[in-house]
Amino acid sequence: MIELEGLHKHFGSLHVLKGIDLKVGSGEKLVVIGPSGSGKSTLIRCMNLLEKPSSGKVTVDGVEITAHKAPIAKIRQSVAMVFQQFNLYPHKTVLENLTLAPTLIKKIPKDEAEESGLAFLDRVGLKQKADAYPSQLSGGQQQRVAIARALNMRPKIMLFDEPTSALDPEMIQEVLDVMVDLAHEGITMVVVTHEMGFARQVADRVVFMDDGQILEQGTPEHFFANPTHERTKQFLSRII
Ligand code: ATP
Ligand code: MG
Repeated sequence: MIELEGLHKHFGSLHVLKGIDLKVGSGEKLVVIGPSGSGKSTLIRCMNLLEKPSSGKVTVDGVEITAHKAPIAKIRQSVAMVFQQFNLYPHKTVLENLTLAPTLIKKIPKDEAEESGLAFLDRVGLKQKADAYPSQLSGGQQQRVAIARALNMRPKIMLFDEPTSALDPEMIQEVLDVMVDLAHEGITMVVVTHEMGFARQVADRVVFMDDGQILEQGTPEHFFANPTHERTKQFLSRII
């Protein structure tokens, strides 16, 4: 579904990704962990070209998106991203937030986009908030709207960059519940998170990044029971 080969990213003289090779299978749930600054966000932003790799290949669903003249806009439609800061449009209602991209970018008729939008809002438990504005919602509710908005684009892949780390503790679980629910539906997910309970519950594989490289990967059980590298052990001892 997603394949990264020999991926490097430089920001000026800063070498942030140092040769990443990674394949994410169709339907796979991959959790990415690692210290601050290790390149996790940059890595997943390269998966939909929000960041342009300095070298290496990114292939999504069989199409090399790093190729010259790749249909990037089209690929972005199939790879949705949920951010730490929910990035909702503040002057649009919740339902308008969900229908904007499908109608403008995918040219889906408005009534159809609204109907599916309401269904996704229902799934995240917020149908009754369709006409509210983002500022009238709690952080947890805003993030659930952001997830519903991503789903209303009918993506094949969902990327999450620390979706719960800007939330008050009491709101984290409601967002994780929605994500667990999604995971059980078979969508391909790449999730940067330090929520190891989530990893344990849904991850097929956990990748530990350190200093721009994948230092270690395996099942959640491997990471809990017996991580190999000293760096991994140190990191886990701080977050669990
Ligand atoms: P965190 O856990 O804090 O979110 P991260 O693992 O996601 O960290 P990245 O955001 O990928 O790390 O950043 C990796 C390195 O690249 C950091 O040193 C960061 O300062 C740098 N960096 C990221 N984005 C840019 C940018 N647009 N311009 C310059 N440097 C950047
Ligand atoms: Mg980050």
